Amino acid sequence: MSFPVYLIGARGCGKTTVGKLLARQLSYHFCDTDQQLQQQLEQSIADYVAQHGWGTFRQQEHHALLTVTSDNTVVATGGGIILRDDNRQHMRESGAVIWLSVDHHVLVNRLTADPEIGQRPTLTGRPITEELYDVLQQRLPLYQQAAHHIIDANQPPEKIVIDILTALSRDSL
Ligand code: ADP
Ligand code: MG
Repeated sequence: MSFPVYLIGARGCGKTTVGKLLARQLSYHFCDTDQQLQQQLEQSIADYVAQHGWGTFRQQEHHALLTVTSDNTVVATGGGIILRDDNRQHMRESGAVIWLSVDHHVLVNRLTADPEIGQRPTLTGRPITEELYDVLQQRLPLYQQAAHHIIDANQPPEKIVIDILTALSRDSL
């Protein structure tokens, strides 16, 4: 196996945390579309969206996804990457797409406990934990459509990595 592994899921589901561990296990590189975006935009996501709007931001995010796509790479994606059809299609066709599925109340606990996440821009201007439920309802079908594998990510990171490796090894049988 050498194709990219994409981690998708809501903000706070553990894409960065799990992605780094998984990359180490596979001896893959680790990339984060949000980090690539920050470099590309040369300003914070919040400032960019305020100036240019969400549509232009999503276009930039699409380019970030294409830029980080590479063999032997684990790609942690932004929570909204699945909103565009072309992003879902690109990920499904070029690699393995893993959805880290986390219960709403677990996400709320993680987001509340992590001050760095609390400072990330919200999508609607409402507090993250309030808007999360609505955003999840809208996005769940898209995560489902995009994913080759759905992983229970309410568990500790090490166990999630084991489950992902098991799912990937079944693919290569
Ligand atoms: P994402 O990249 O999907 O937004 P992060 O990896 O940044 O999520 O994780 C969000 C927060 O939740 C961090 O504080 C992280 O330490 C914590 N976290 C991530 N995965 C788990 C897990 N499986 N169990 C407990 N806490 C986790
Ligand atoms: Mg992240």
